[in-house]
Amino acid sequence: MHEKPVLIAGGGIGGLAAAVGLARKGIASIVLEQAPQLGEIGAGIQIAPNAFHCFDYLGIGDQARAQAVYIDALRLMDAQTAEQITAIPLDAPFRAHFGNPYAVVHRADLHGALLDFCAESPLVDLRTNHRVESYTQDGKSVTVACAGQAAITGRALIAADGLNSNIRQQMIGDGAPRVSGHTTYRSVIPTEQMPEDLRWNAATLWAGPKCHIVHYPLKGWKVFNLVVTYHRDVKEAISGRPVSKAEVGRGFEHIHPRAQQIIEHGSDWKLWVLCDRDPISNWVDGRVALLGDAAHPMLQYFAQGASMAMEDAVCLSHCFEAFDDVENALSDYQSRRLVKTARVQMNSRLIGEYIYHPDGAQAVVRNHVMAGMTPQKWYDQLTWIYGGNGIDP
Ligand SMILES: Cc1cc2nc3c(=O)[nH]c(=O)nc-3n(C[C@H](O)[C@H](O)[C@H](O)COP(=O)(O)OP(=O)(O)OC[C@H]3O[C@@H](n4cnc5c(N)ncnc54)[C@H](O)[C@@H]3O)c2cc1C
Repeated sequence: MHEKPVLIAGGGIGGLAAAVGLARKGIASIVLEQAPQLGEIGAGIQIAPNAFHCFDYLGIGDQARAQAVYIDALRLMDAQTAEQITAIPLDAPFRAHFGNPYAVVHRADLHGALLDFCAESPLVDLRTNHRVESYTQDGKSVTVACAGQAAITGRALIAADGLNSNIRQQMIGDGAPRVSGHTTYRSVIPTEQMPEDLRWNAATLWAGPKCHIVHYPLKGWKVFNLVVTYHRDVKEAISGRPVSKAEVGRGFEHIHPRAQQIIEHGSDWKLWVLCDRDPISNWVDGRVALLGDAAHPMLQYFAQGASMAMEDAVCLSHCFEAFDDVENALSDYQSRRLVKTARVQMNSRLIGEYIYHPDGAQAVVRNHVMAGMTPQKWYDQLTWIYGGNGIDP
């Protein structure tokens, strides 16, 4: 029987990964993206083994691996003393434990690997300038209304429309996301601009009171990705606003000059005010399901938001294959994904407070505990996140 395609709202990493996963199972989809072009912001992203497991499942592991920079360690520095607290090695024992490496990649390359597959697949119909406003369903199909476009009907609707999802508002109605008050500034600079003594092959985190700085190499070491975060108690959500260097540096006087200078080397800084939501226990309504940031937006402190969206996509395609009935497939998808995604959401807030931004005695405890961990202990502690590809809860 000829079945209607699955509708996917949003052509970000989550939406495209869902389209790839469904196509791999022989299921057609229509991706509806509001923007005039499909693309990603010009910044880096960390790819843990679970994301590579997803790429492998989606059949584009080789493309993803080809674009990545393989870093040696996750390095944690005390931003007040400029001393290393710990470095988690990402060498052969790490890869053997998790079955895949840890790497960093440019977002456009990651999105591009998914987009290349979609653009070539006869099972994926990519439509830009389609902003999904709302849905209706009748037990057999779902119809979406798109601004200024004809209505479109499919067998299911996957809402991968991000943090401010329209579909979530219709389904859950829980209003605007929670504004964390943490400001994040991003910059990508040529490697020559990065201080020579900080050109480490690591994802480096300088953790200080109410602030932190992250940097790592990208694009075959041609550029460095810089992320500077400060808990300024900002009340308004902001996404990608250009800001001056002076604004980025404001309030960093309390950290060591070696860490402070990183801000000086950045250019073309852009600002985000980070948002998340409390976990919820239902994100499926009949033939409609949320995916990625639409379902479980989180603070970036585990560097797992895109990875969770890809795990969702893998799990979704697995469930579509396992069940003939769409509603059962979506219900199984939700029950497989709920615990891990909620756990990452909740723990991201906790590590923000106790690992990224503590001061005084709390920072002393962090340094003591983290410095005392062996690599194997780290690997065991991280297995719940870095293990698996999203199919098993
Ligand atoms: C500073 C920072 C650093 C991060 N670092 C990492 C990291 O290292 N590793 C990691 O895994 N994650 C990281 N993340 C998280 C990650 O970026 C997100 O979780 C991920 O991009 C979510 O993907 P998504 O496809 O669900 O949503 P999005 O990327 O937000 O995509 C949503 C898409 O839907 C479109 N859209 C929106 N509304 C509509 C509509 N009504 N109709 C049609 N289309 C619509 C949008 O235009 C967009 O293309 C980080 C986040 C931040 C803020």
